[in-house]
Amino acid sequence: RELPGDAQSDSIPRQVLHACYTKVFPSAEVENPELVVWSDSVADLLDLDHKEFERPDFPIIFSGASPLAGAVPYAQCYGGHQFGTWAGQLGDGRAITLGEILNSRLERWELQLKGAGKTPYSRSADGLAVLRSSIREFLCSEAMHFLGIPTTRALCLVTTGKLVTRDMFYDGNPKEEPGAIVCRVVQSFLRFGSFQIHSSRGEEDLGIVRALADYAIRHHFPHIENISKSESLSFITGDDDQLVVDLTSNKYAAWIVEIAERTASLVARWQGVGFTHGVLNTDNMSILGLTIDYGPFGFLDAFDPSYTPNTTDLPGRRYCFGNQPDICLWNITQFASSLMAARLISDKEANYAMERYGTKFMDEYQAIMSRKLGLQKYSKQLVTKLLNNLAVDKVDYTNFFRSLSKIKADPDIPEDQLLVPLKAVLLDIGKERKEAWGSWVQFYIKELVSSGISDEERKTSMDSVNPKYVLRNYLCQSAIDAAELGDFGEVRRLLKVMERPYDEQPGMEKYARLPPAWAYRPGVCMLSCSS
Ligand code: AMP
Ligand code: MG
Ligand code: MG
Repeated sequence: RELPGDAQSDSIPRQVLHACYTKVFPSAEVENPELVVWSDSVADLLDLDHKEFERPDFPIIFSGASPLAGAVPYAQCYGGHQFGTWAGQLGDGRAITLGEILNSRLERWELQLKGAGKTPYSRSADGLAVLRSSIREFLCSEAMHFLGIPTTRALCLVTTGKLVTRDMFYDGNPKEEPGAIVCRVVQSFLRFGSFQIHSSRGEEDLGIVRALADYAIRHHFPHIENISKSESLSFITGDDDQLVVDLTSNKYAAWIVEIAERTASLVARWQGVGFTHGVLNTDNMSILGLTIDYGPFGFLDAFDPSYTPNTTDLPGRRYCFGNQPDICLWNITQFASSLMAARLISDKEANYAMERYGTKFMDEYQAIMSRKLGLQKYSKQLVTKLLNNLAVDKVDYTNFFRSLSKIKADPDIPEDQLLVPLKAVLLDIGKERKEAWGSWVQFYIKELVSSGISDEERKTSMDSVNPKYVLRNYLCQSAIDAAELGDFGEVRRLLKVMERPYDEQPGMEKYARLPPAWAYRPGVCMLSCSS
């Protein structure tokens, strides 16, 4: 921070050529920063004693106001396709990495402050973040982790004590909001756009794509490093109409196949839990297959494949819930193109990675949906009919699946009793729709009977994959409203509830309720990218 003279130039917006990052120091203005919420479980990843959170200088360090010993802060250069269009250089416009910690288990964790001030990548924006969006990012990354979905983590969230001006989308008027900083923690923030930016800059920078790929493989995919010498991976053979690619002959091909498969399995989990990311630009696509960048995300309440939490994405709905699998394939295609441009993979290998994405997604999605239904075998007809019914009657996705384990595998159940276990989730349903649901339940019971699993065993396994508690937007908003008035209790309580999403948690049932009427006001379930 005390760097003299040209240190000022660190954050002048510019095209940063021939480089993957820029050294830059946190510079957000800070006045009496306060710790809003923290994660003990992330502290454990870092071998950080929980008592450290009580240190009076903790919020000062994690607002960037005082340097962290040993840190060499930097911001990453990356590009990306935004809403389908190449946007050129983006980069860490408000995120500053402090460095990496190697823990006692020799795991490498990167610590990054989001909202810590301008960088060369800030373009015309202020480099800051507000409390509202920081609470959302903090809580959702932890909630996703505890749901079992790969994600960046969050160590802590502090207020800066300073106000930040934001244009609120619903009235267009600027508003002053409390500033805040989240400390994100992840093995690596490398994303598709980290490679795309260099391949987009022409021949001269193609060596950077290769160097960065080598770095990524060495540090994060070490099992691929010596793939040509590995005996466990032999030739891949497929059916006549399938591509056949030998992954042992090219580590970059093996690498992109693994990235494609990790991405596929991530998206399958999003679809299973009803999560919509909201901004699936290629700069928000992790090479580790993690959920990164929590902006206008949303969990489904009423089931709706066209659900789009991001107002910036209306009316096109490019990133709606149902499009996520296709969009991520499109993103893989862009990533593959940049590796092809750098002559790391052939077009055949690129196509093969895309094919493997498709296969992996279908395998994982079918396995997840079967587990959610408590069945060992996937039934396409059963799932298609169910999703159709859920959409027609706008049934709450989370609560529906949670209730489903109450259904017994009893083929002799009288017709008028079929819907009793689902009474609480099938609300306001007319006679005709009751018939549709009744016939689905009959079909379902048949499948349950043939699976031969006991009701009790099935309930236990279903309740371990169908969460009772998800971070619904209205829950976030209640915590934000209180926090903006200086009461952080609700944020902390919500974290505790979301740390055990599959447990019943007596006394906490209100966190599993449907959104109240006020949740439909602008800014609660519909958000813009402005954060
Ligand atoms: P996102 O849509 O959140 O992925 O952000 C896209 C780009 O905008 C990234 O390069 C961000 O760093 C940048 N960005 C977003 N908000 C700000 C901000 N307040 N100040 C500087 N850069 C920002
Ligand atoms: Mg982003
Ligand atoms: Mg963002």
